[in-house]
Amino acid sequence: MMNPRFQLYQRGQQPTVTKGTFTQAIASEKFGAQVFNRTIMQKMLPKEIYVNVINAVEGREKIKPEYADTIALAMKEWAINLGATHYSHWFQPLTGASAEKHDAFIDWSAPDKVIEKFSGKQLIQGEPDASSFPSGGLRSTYEARGYTGWDPTSPVFVWKAGDGVTLCIPSVFFSWTGEVLDAKIPLLRSEKKLNDAVLRLLKLTGIEAHQVYTTLGLEQEYFVIDRAWRSLRPDLLLIGRTVFGANPPKGQELQDHYFGSVKDRILSYMADFEHTAFMLGIPVKTRHNEVAPAQHEVAPVFEKSSAAIDHNILLMELMRQTAAKHQLACLLHEKPFKDINGSGKHSNWSISTDTGINLLDPSETPENNIHFLILITAILNAVYEHSALLRAAIGSAANDYRLGGHEAPPAIISVYLGNDLEGVLDNIAEKGSHTRTGSNLKYDLGLVVVPELTKDNTDRNRTSPFAFTGNKFEFRAVGSSSSPALPITVLNAIVADSVNRILDEVEENLKNHKKPSKAELVEAVLPVIRKYLKHSKGVRFHGDNYSQAWVQEAKRRGLPNITKSVHAFEALVDKKTVAAFQGILQKNELQSRYEILTDIYINNIKIEAKLMIDMFRTQILPAAIRYQRDLADSLEEIGSKAAPRQNKLLNELTKGIEAALKNLDAVEDVLEASLKIESLEKRGVAFGEKVSEKCDDLRESVDHLETLVDDAYWPLPKYRELLFLV
Ligand code: ADP
Ligand code: MG
Repeated sequence: MMNPRFQLYQRGQQPTVTKGTFTQAIASEKFGAQVFNRTIMQKMLPKEIYVNVINAVEGREKIKPEYADTIALAMKEWAINLGATHYSHWFQPLTGASAEKHDAFIDWSAPDKVIEKFSGKQLIQGEPDASSFPSGGLRSTYEARGYTGWDPTSPVFVWKAGDGVTLCIPSVFFSWTGEVLDAKIPLLRSEKKLNDAVLRLLKLTGIEAHQVYTTLGLEQEYFVIDRAWRSLRPDLLLIGRTVFGANPPKGQELQDHYFGSVKDRILSYMADFEHTAFMLGIPVKTRHNEVAPAQHEVAPVFEKSSAAIDHNILLMELMRQTAAKHQLACLLHEKPFKDINGSGKHSNWSISTDTGINLLDPSETPENNIHFLILITAILNAVYEHSALLRAAIGSAANDYRLGGHEAPPAIISVYLGNDLEGVLDNIAEKGSHTRTGSNLKYDLGLVVVPELTKDNTDRNRTSPFAFTGNKFEFRAVGSSSSPALPITVLNAIVADSVNRILDEVEENLKNHKKPSKAELVEAVLPVIRKYLKHSKGVRFHGDNYSQAWVQEAKRRGLPNITKSVHAFEALVDKKTVAAFQGILQKNELQSRYEILTDIYINNIKIEAKLMIDMFRTQILPAAIRYQRDLADSLEEIGSKAAPRQNKLLNELTKGIEAALKNLDAVEDVLEASLKIESLEKRGVAFGEKVSEKCDDLRESVDHLETLVDDAYWPLPKYRELLFLV
């Protein structure tokens, strides 16, 4: 039988560009066409109900129960007009993905007739069986009642997939005893906590605002490969990552892919998913090729964090589904290919007021920047004190392969501020002078003025896991496939905690001033800031985060370098975390997250190990043995005396096969032993360290075999085919 790879070659040229799956339209005209947005609501709802819904959208009040039926009716009419037949509460359980359960809009109207119906009760609450969602021991299965509740802060939308059209109602998910079972409730609570802390700060420093929220712009990296080639790789099919694969002679070293012209086929794909993204109200803006071959990026314009996160989860789903239409496969995994750049989800995060001020942009409040200095100080302190927790929040088996690898941030969490801001802070911390200094900071007459900080690309450190970029922070360590909800929740929680602690001390200094002047305020703030800046100084790093020297330096500074996520997860139940999460998640809820993350981590490595065993035994070994037999036959014919080098080759192959078989045994043994470990914590460590180490060994020997065995026998598409034949 012909090698399936060669059959693919025989297919001739790659499938041509898929065209005509959508009609191009002007962006502004199609934007939000599948969203139950303000314009639609204003048209369809009585005024007082519309006002109630908008207030709920802004988080100012709850939906009045007596309005629910009217709102549901309007939604149903609108959705049916767009072809919807079903509705679904759309929520984010702790699997990291989204979940939905569709119900048709039908009810009996006569013994043999149905009508389309959707009630306020159905809109407001759903009751999916919770027993199959991870709860980390929060709830035993016999009491598995879980509830979903409409979250009006996130817009209702219509989702089209195949011939199915569904009205989706973004929802939160909790157990019947009120425990939080999703990623959304903690995020919303962390926003509230940060809102309260920052409003307290703004009141003190005299900046007008009624509400504060974080903004988020997510740069999504991904790979796109040909679907037919992918279907020949069980590993890509099941987990989106290649567990074997030798380096191709040409990888990414020529850097000819970055910002290169996008191939027609890929551009058609991008345009297609961007079109639907627009209809769903996702403001996708930027697209380009990334550094690795077949790697790309899409980035929307930033939004409020909760909207940005919902949109990112929708966008990832959309990218996967649209790829199928184009006979492509979208790989969102953090590290699909060894020795080739991995994919991140750079999370650009800032804090904004309802009055339109970006609080992390000092140029927006040129005459009054005390809040900016306090926020920066609080953020540095938060990252310093909770770096292990941040590491846990971005942790996964998949991201472990990426962190510290090619052009990826290391597992050490540090902050890059840029020379200008660094200068400003050093000035305060070291000199502590209260007069105008020669440098770029002045704070006389009680005015703290930070000059406009450069937002220029040249002052950027692209190696930093957490970098200030002039008006926002870029958290680069977040992995491409993960939900950004937990990292952002953690960030909000720890920053709110630090802001509150700093304010406690500032207010203590001000207790004898009823109405402090600007100068008195600065007088009260500076010593506190100075103390915190000194305390957290070790977290600031300006050099090359990819260098070995930094690993040593970080060690001297006492910064954690947690290369395996499994060691970071315990930070979720640390005392410090429980304190910072007050009002967001309780200790048992944090414990459940620890358990779920560890469990998912173990399962991922287990699946990979099983895949390796299976692929090696049933695909690679037979190919290697076949080639071994060919070589042996040929040597027998010629005689090994006449062909000493060929004999050497056979020996090398035989040794390679033996080595791989030995490594296979080791994987099987350690897998079996690790699965037997009772304690979750110890099992996690066994998988993170022992199982993955043995898997690495097996991979190495298999990748070596790939360079020896006859190409015509090798059953798995090679890196050159996956990366370049698209
Ligand atoms: P790059 O980092 O590739 O140079 P940009 O800095 O222009 O690109 O933007 C990256 C992302 O940061 C975009 O999604 C953008 O919308 C987002 N962004 C810009 N300003 C803010 C902000 N104030 N808050 C959150 N995200 C922002
Ligand atoms: Mg960026």
